[in-house]
Amino acid sequence: MEPRAFYVAGRPAHGEDELTVTHPYDGQPVGRTTLATADQVEAAVAGAARVAAEAAALPAHARAAALDHVSRRLAERADEVAALITAENGKPVKWAKAEVGRAISTFRWAAEEARRFSGELQRLDTDPAATGRIALIRRVPRGPVLGITPFNFPLNLVAHKVAPALAVGTPIVVKPAPATPLTALLLGEILTETDLPEGMFSVLPLPNERAAELVTDPRLPVVSFTGSGPVGAAIRRAAPDKHVTLELGGNAAAVICEDWAADEDLTFAAHRIATFSNYQAGQSCIAVQRVYVHEWLYDGFLPRLVAAVQALRTGDPRSELTDVGPLVSVEAAQRVETWVDDAVAAGATIEVGGRRDGATYPPTVLSGAPADAKVCAEEVFGPVLVVASVADDRAAFAAVNDSAYGLQAGVFTHRLDVAFDAARTLEVGGVIVGDVPSYRADQMPYGGMKGSGVGREGLRSAMDDYTEPRVTVLTGV
Ligand code: NAD
Repeated sequence: MEPRAFYVAGRPAHGEDELTVTHPYDGQPVGRTTLATADQVEAAVAGAARVAAEAAALPAHARAAALDHVSRRLAERADEVAALITAENGKPVKWAKAEVGRAISTFRWAAEEARRFSGELQRLDTDPAATGRIALIRRVPRGPVLGITPFNFPLNLVAHKVAPALAVGTPIVVKPAPATPLTALLLGEILTETDLPEGMFSVLPLPNERAAELVTDPRLPVVSFTGSGPVGAAIRRAAPDKHVTLELGGNAAAVICEDWAADEDLTFAAHRIATFSNYQAGQSCIAVQRVYVHEWLYDGFLPRLVAAVQALRTGDPRSELTDVGPLVSVEAAQRVETWVDDAVAAGATIEVGGRRDGATYPPTVLSGAPADAKVCAEEVFGPVLVVASVADDRAAFAAVNDSAYGLQAGVFTHRLDVAFDAARTLEVGGVIVGDVPSYRADQMPYGGMKGSGVGREGLRSAMDDYTEPRVTVLTGV
C-alpha cells in the first residue's frame, strides 16, 4: 500500500512521518499517507499568499471551469470515492454514495454561483447632496482561507470549504481530520487536473498541535472550521483578529405537533426520525437526538418509532444492505455506551437498543431520560435518540430551546401558523417544517446559534464570508 500524496501549493508531496488509516469496522489498514513537514507547511502558506492577487483576478469562466471539472470527475469516480469514504469513515456505502452525490452538486452549484457572483449597484441619490452618484459594490476576497474539517463527512464538508474559495478566487489550505484524510487527498488529486494557478490549494495532513499553529498564521486571514465546540472555541480565542466561521455541534430536536395525528403522519415521522437519528451511526451534527411528542400522540408514536428503529440493519458498512455501521472508533462507541448507562442509572428506560460490539453501537431509543442527562443536554454523536412527551406545541418549542446548542430543528406540522410560530420561536439556524432537522440542501445558508457556531456555510453564504464589500462611488451618472 503506497502512501497517498498530499498537496503543497498544488503539487503532490510526501512528508516524513507516516499516518496509517484504519477501517472503523474491523480495524484493518485501508490506506496510508504522511504528515506534512514544517517546510512543506511553510511552502503551502507562502504559495497561497503569493498567488492571492492572481487568484482574485481569475475570470469567472476560469473559476467555473475548474469547479465544473471537479464536479464531473467526482461523478466519473463516484463508486471509488464512496468506497474510500466507507473505508476510512465506516459510514454505510449507501450513505457514502449520497455524500458523493452531494459533493458533485456542491461543486456544480459553486460553478454556477461563480458565474453570477457580480456585486451590486446601489443608488446614493436618496440624499439630495448625492444627486448624480451611484455606488458600485464588488466583493473582493479577504485573503487565503484555512479550512479545517471533521471526520464525519470527509468529502462534502471539504467541498463546502474548497468550492466557495475557488468560486470567489481565493486560495485555500485544507487541513483534513486525522481519522479521514484520504478522501480529501483524492479531492486534491482531482484539483491538480484543473488549470488553477499553483498555490491556489493545498491539502495538508497534520497533527492537531500543528494545525493550531496554522490558525495563528497572519497569511491566512480567514479560518473556516467545522468540528467540535471546544476546538472551535480554542480557535476563536487563538485568532481574535481573523475572520472565523465556526460550524460546531448540536443536539438536534424534532417536534411532533398536535395536528400531526393521522396514522400515516405518525408512521412517516417515525421512519424519518429512525433513519436520521441513526444515519452515519448518529455522527452528524444534525442527526435527530431529541424528540418531543404531543402527549395525545405519544402512545401511538412510540411503538411506530421502535418498530422503525428495529427495522434498521446494523453491520458491515461495505454491504449495500447496511443502514447503520460502526462509529469512527471503539473509543467513540465506548463513550456513547457510558452516556446511555448513565442515563439509565438516572431513570431512563431503553425502549430499543442493545450492547456495544467493538466500534458498533446499536440504534437505541430512550424514554424518561432526565433533561440534564448527557444524552439530552450534550451532543451524543452516536445512534441514540431520547423521546419525551410534552403538554403542547409551545412546551415542545421551549424544550427544544432548553439547549446549549441551536443548529436546526424539525417540526412535524401541517399548520402554517404553527410553522411560523416555530420559525419565530426556535433558537436555531434552520427550522425544517414537515421533516427531520437533519435536512440540508447544500446551497442553502447553514449554521447555528448559541454553542452551534458562528457564521453560515452553504455556497453563497460561504462566498460572502470569504469576501468583503469594496465600494466604488461613481459621480456624474
Ligand atoms: P474535532 O473538533 O475533534 O476535529 C475537527 C478538526 O479540527 C480536525 O481536522 C482536527 O484535526 C482539527 N483540530 C483539532 N484540534 C485542533 C486545534 N487545536 N487547532 C486546529 N485544529 C484542530 O471534531 P471531529 O470529531 O472531527 O468532528 C465531530 C464534530 O464536528 C462534532 O461536534 C460535530 O457536530 C461537528 N460537526 C459540525 C458540523 C456543522 O456543520 N455544524 C458538521 C459536521 C460536524
